[in-house]
Amino acid sequence: MAKRGNFTSGLGGVEGGVLEALQRKGISRREFLKFCAIIGAALAVPVDQVGRIAEALASVRRPPVIWLEFQDCAGCTESFLRASRPAVAEIVLDLLSVDYHETIMAAAGKQAEEAKEATVKTGGHLVIVEGSIPTREGGIYCCIGGRTAVEILEEATRGAAAVIAVGSCAAFGGLASAEPNPTGAVGVRDLVHKVPVINLPGCPVNAVNITATVVHYLTYKSLPELDAWGRPLFAYGKRIHDNCERRAHFDAGQFVENWGDEGHRKGWCLYLMGCKGPETYSNCPTVRWNEGTNWPVGAGHGCVGCTQPGFWDSMTPFYRRLPTVPGFSVESTADDVGLGLAAVAAAGVAAHAAGSIIRRKTEKTEESKE
Ligand code: SF4
Repeated sequence: MAKRGNFTSGLGGVEGGVLEALQRKGISRREFLKFCAIIGAALAVPVDQVGRIAEALASVRRPPVIWLEFQDCAGCTESFLRASRPAVAEIVLDLLSVDYHETIMAAAGKQAEEAKEATVKTGGHLVIVEGSIPTREGGIYCCIGGRTAVEILEEATRGAAAVIAVGSCAAFGGLASAEPNPTGAVGVRDLVHKVPVINLPGCPVNAVNITATVVHYLTYKSLPELDAWGRPLFAYGKRIHDNCERRAHFDAGQFVENWGDEGHRKGWCLYLMGCKGPETYSNCPTVRWNEGTNWPVGAGHGCVGCTQPGFWDSMTPFYRRLPTVPGFSVESTADDVGLGLAAVAAAGVAAHAAGSIIRRKTEKTEESKE
């Protein structure tokens, strides 16, 4: 990227800081401020906070990071490295001083282990964990350098400022913990109790949410407000269903009933095709993927609920619609009644959907009478 002007004016900066790292990469002041605005929007802070974010990032030292991978597919690392929005992928990496990351670090073997040990010894670092941790049989199902993931996690989190569990596996156990969970896979919060743990579930995690969490930490010197599952409210405070672009069709009782049917081609609601958006909390519809161009529901596939605890067991079969709420079994195709929809909120949604379907069927009946 070509260097375009000096953007230090008015922003300050410290040696070894974020600003210096960005300047070395030739990132322009305009790109930097655009990045700050995008992250401010993701954090849902008032517009006047963008300047504060810019000043904080310009003057802060990059926090040392240890990134651990356990029972994972490296999909979250891929998601993180391929982030090209906010505008400059480099900024994401330059916010952090990644001292240890098995997939991307140049060092290997003893040299890599020494880098990790030195970071832990200094303390105050961030630990990012990707993948679930197996606990059965003494944790033998995931060993690195002859040590179990449980041991490595315990050591790396000593003296850490916080742990960020990225992806559904690190947050809640994910796919590896699905029945019958042969390795006894668990999430980070099941094992780490002395250090704050922030969960950023998703399969994979959205890099914008990692970046926004780190920016919040650097700007406000505190962690973002979390929900009961340890997820930041800025990213997981609203249901997919609340911000979905197909919501108007849900409200109008316009549902896709078969893949490729007229409703599917017209972008109608995917509720009957198994969409789990009504009981899934995530900012996917607003942050999106691939430079913010699209997301699964936008592309025509229902939400699979990957940010919720218990994913995968709780969200499969993916192509069966959410159960109708007991006592509201008015749908003619209520084959799932009684499966026990736990969320009260989902009850309202299912009832709403039922009402919409009834309305639509009534309209059809009325039409056929005419
Ligand atoms: S059910 Fe799914 S597709 Fe339909 S409006 Fe809700 S989130 Fe969107």
